[in-house]
Amino acid sequence: MNTELFTITDKNRDTPAARAAVQRAGNILRAGGLVAFPTETVYGLGGDALNPESSRRIYAAKGRPSDNPLIVHICRWEDLAPIVREIPETAEKLGKAFWPGPLTMILEKSDRVPGETTGGLSTVAVRMPSDQTAISLIREAGGYVAAPSANASGRPSPTLAKYVEEDLGGKIEMILDGGQACIGLESTIVDLTEAVPTILRPGYITKEMLSKVLGEVETDRAILPEGSDIAPKAPGMKYRHYAPKAELTIIAGEEEAVVRRINELAMEAERRGYRSGVIATNATLGRYRATLIKSAGDRAEGAETARELYRILREFDEAEVDVIWSESFADDGIGQAVMNRLLKAAGHRVEKV
Ligand code: AMP
Ligand code: MG
Repeated sequence: MNTELFTITDKNRDTPAARAAVQRAGNILRAGGLVAFPTETVYGLGGDALNPESSRRIYAAKGRPSDNPLIVHICRWEDLAPIVREIPETAEKLGKAFWPGPLTMILEKSDRVPGETTGGLSTVAVRMPSDQTAISLIREAGGYVAAPSANASGRPSPTLAKYVEEDLGGKIEMILDGGQACIGLESTIVDLTEAVPTILRPGYITKEMLSKVLGEVETDRAILPEGSDIAPKAPGMKYRHYAPKAELTIIAGEEEAVVRRINELAMEAERRGYRSGVIATNATLGRYRATLIKSAGDRAEGAETARELYRILREFDEAEVDVIWSESFADDGIGQAVMNRLLKAAGHRVEKV
């Protein structure tokens, strides 16, 4: 299959060519085809959420297990009611506070949403993204676009269109390129079907931000550091996601000790003929000796690390490094989401120094 690639930026967004491209993309979705598109979190692989055949195609293109449900993307608040059994007050409050934006709500689904889209669950995940191209595409497609991240299953989520092309080129009808995703990590998922709203996946919208709106909020124990043996409530969180090809280990501790230990490990690896990679920060970048050293940004700027993390993991893959060591990052605010993804990429391998 030939995959059409079209770039939409703020410069050309209002031109007839860009409008026609979004219309073409919408028609592809209405006809049961697949289109990858930018969102503020990561690129999504879109299909018509109300068409079971489209959802089957999404799973096939990604190589994703079909028990791992998709997030339904909408572009207007009015479109929520038809796909859920009821809209609880918690959803209204969160919608007002954070939509459009990087927050996904789990609600009881209505009959309009096929089981193929929800991995057989009676609940549905819904999000209203803020990215302009995403919004226009959803509107053109008829209002309901099922979209998981646009990577091949098991690879880091794409934050650039070229990574979508790498994983899905030839398997889907079209890719809309909107430049680098500005958040860089997947949406926060909050389950509103429980007595107490529960975070199933940490993201840019933090527990503190949710608590300000809702009061009490819990975190699914499975995604806490000590809970790695418990089955998570978001089926997708059980898979070893976000995996680089090389073995990744997090080295945690005081900066001096971390730098010393990583250099020791990297030198030993190089001596044995392996290519080594290091995920550093701006302050420590110049202090490592390894095949490839990348900065995840300023240690105080968690948002920067969030934006760069998946790109860095993919660049290590491109450079075919064999082993990677990463510094550890602050576990507050967006840092919680960063550490959640980094720990998964590392298969929870952490060495404390
Ligand atoms: P992705 O779009 O690749 O970020 O994957 C969507 C994530 O949302 C996966 O981790 C799913 O398991 C999760 N998810 C989607 N629908 C539900 C649902 N109804 N209940 C719990 N988790 C869900
Ligand atoms: Mg994903």
